[in-house]
Amino acid sequence: MTSLHLVERRPRNPTRAVRVGALTIGGGAPIAVQSMAATRTQDVAATTRQVQLLEAAGADLVRIAVDSRKDVEALAEIRARTRVPLSVDLQENYRLAELVAPHVDKIRYNPGHLYHHERDKPVRDKVAFLAAVAERHDCALRVGVNCGSVDPVQTAAHAGDDVGAMVASALEHCALLDALGFTRYVVSLKDSDWRNVVEGNRHFAAERPDVPLHLGVTEAGMPPDGVIKTRIAFEQLLAAGIGDTIRVSLTLPFEQKGEEIAAGRGILADIAAGRFRSVPPRFGEGLNIISCPSCSRVENEAFIELARQVKEQTAYAQAHAITIAVMGCRVNGPGETNDADLGLWCGPVAVNLKRGATELGAYPYDQVLDRLRVELDALIAERKPSPPAP
Ligand code: SF4
Repeated sequence: MTSLHLVERRPRNPTRAVRVGALTIGGGAPIAVQSMAATRTQDVAATTRQVQLLEAAGADLVRIAVDSRKDVEALAEIRARTRVPLSVDLQENYRLAELVAPHVDKIRYNPGHLYHHERDKPVRDKVAFLAAVAERHDCALRVGVNCGSVDPVQTAAHAGDDVGAMVASALEHCALLDALGFTRYVVSLKDSDWRNVVEGNRHFAAERPDVPLHLGVTEAGMPPDGVIKTRIAFEQLLAAGIGDTIRVSLTLPFEQKGEEIAAGRGILADIAAGRFRSVPPRFGEGLNIISCPSCSRVENEAFIELARQVKEQTAYAQAHAITIAVMGCRVNGPGETNDADLGLWCGPVAVNLKRGATELGAYPYDQVLDRLRVELDALIAERKPSPPAP
């Protein structure tokens, strides 16, 4: 399905066209709406169903995470059962690119993860490997920078300026790919805070208006808040001509993942029609619940229900500027909750909880909410301004 001719009525950045299978991103093509399978990649039946469900919902491109050779074998089977353009998310092991490339149209790598794998090897050589693989197999690349996992060299060089580090990392990788003569790439700069997404993408687009941008607010959480955060970022960027493909990342049960596509198309249609939603007063100033959209790393689907219960049971604290992060796995959960006041990340039978940087332990799914509430109340009490001295 083609996207709405959204910003077609508004000037867009003159990005170059990047071909992704039968799809074109950038170069004035309709804005592509994409999503990601949240099921375990090795569960071929479930992941195929997820891909088909997203395709039926109108996805232009579907991403699948791959972290092992077994995932690659599953991917090959899934590819044979679906027709929608596929993108793959290389998680830790960039060398898997060689095995996955024959089955997909686009490969996403994270410069932060690339830095950590085979540290003795220059980043330039790893990027050259990926570009060569992509070239050989007719694939596009995405340089997917995430504020929560930026290359530590850039983080150190931009002490305290997370957005600056994210933009510098993206620009560095564009320069590396350009120097290799590889131009078939798009870039994303994501964060769970829509303000950082807007700031980072604006800065990047000012420096590289030629590079197509994939927009998204990562770990936006559940509807409706997750949609609202994303809408605010997209309204500000797309209306300024920035953005060539979008993903709305929502925490949803597997069977409802198609709602990400519906939300994305709804936002595009509204912007195209000039319908800009006003931001609810004080949105983002009170209690802020972020939760990841889930992916194949989720070890217990109870995570989705937990995220819903966290939102429901903390609603009483709405007026307090506190961030609670709920993440679906033990791999990225500890890092992705770093900036939150209270963080939860899920394992197969227990949920880990931390307050600031202090880990409080792992709790069974049916007990963690009680402990969370104790911590939330303590935080509220601590932050309450002391009464004026008599
Ligand atoms: S936090 Fe874990 S489960 Fe959630 S999207 Fe990230 S990698 Fe996937």
